[in-house]
Amino acid sequence: MSDFYAVIGNPIAHSRSPLIHAAFSRQTGQDMRYEAILAPLDAFAATVSIFRQRGGKGMNVTVPFKLEACRISNRLTERAGAAQAVNTLVFDAGEILGDNTDGAGLMRDITVNRKFSLTAKRVLLMGAGGAARGAMLPLLEHEPSMLTIANRTKQKAYELQQQFSYYGNVVSGDYSDLRGERFDLIINATSASLHGKLPLLPAGIFAMESLAYDMMYGDERTPFLQFAKQQGVARLADGIGMLVEQAAEAFFLWRGIRPETASVIDAMREKFKV
Ligand code: NDP
Repeated sequence: MSDFYAVIGNPIAHSRSPLIHAAFSRQTGQDMRYEAILAPLDAFAATVSIFRQRGGKGMNVTVPFKLEACRISNRLTERAGAAQAVNTLVFDAGEILGDNTDGAGLMRDITVNRKFSLTAKRVLLMGAGGAARGAMLPLLEHEPSMLTIANRTKQKAYELQQQFSYYGNVVSGDYSDLRGERFDLIINATSASLHGKLPLLPAGIFAMESLAYDMMYGDERTPFLQFAKQQGVARLADGIGMLVEQAAEAFFLWRGIRPETASVIDAMREKFKV
């Protein structure tokens, strides 16, 4: 019988992870199945447990369960420990290993696929949930001159600032604190786009030659990328590249083989035409 994997979240219908992992398994000749599972908001751990009992080998975890996935893991990789958020689970010999491949996927998409260097740049990270946490350390490793975290709940942004200040220049606040600021790279790591919303950003927040990056992906340009375009930003990126890159990292963890990603990103882009 094929090895069995899944992505778990709520909502989950928008997820393209099953398509990506099917492409990776075809490309690498791995014998595996991969499905999407909708977990009730109050039954994440129970849904994972049923999946394990069915013989599941690993899961990807998406909104809003990454912090909970961290709590149910018996062991964490170093990057998941730093993020305190888990997007990949490995079930092995009665143990649950939790990893976070989001940050590595994001950085690979920005620096390799998009050829955008962060070094000495001013970076704004919107959001302080699981995806933002996963991005903190990988972003700071690229030595931006300043990393600003803005979040609707200011306290959560402040907690991230406290946790990661050791690794670089980090400041935090809510969206009203951004007036008069300009950034070279703005990353939307909120789930606002999932609901067709946009955190309130002041006009003039994008510097010349800046990159607007929305972790969200979908059939249409997100509200954040629409706003960036209206502000004259030419470099717009949705989360498809990150999605494929973080999936490749998870695939490597499960199967020990690193799939080629460029053709899979192209295929996904064909589907969305954003
Ligand atoms: P979480 O639920 O952990 O965090 C959600 C974040 O969004 C919080 O900071 C929350 O603020 C903020 N938020 C939600 N709604 C609004 C709103 N209306 N206005 C302002 N802020 C809002 O989600 P994740 O961190 O896991 O995911 C965030 C996004 O990133 C999702 O869209 C997800 O699809 C995407 N993502 C994409 C990936 C990819 O590979 N492309 C990988 C991972 C995530 P508050 O703290 O105030 O509640």
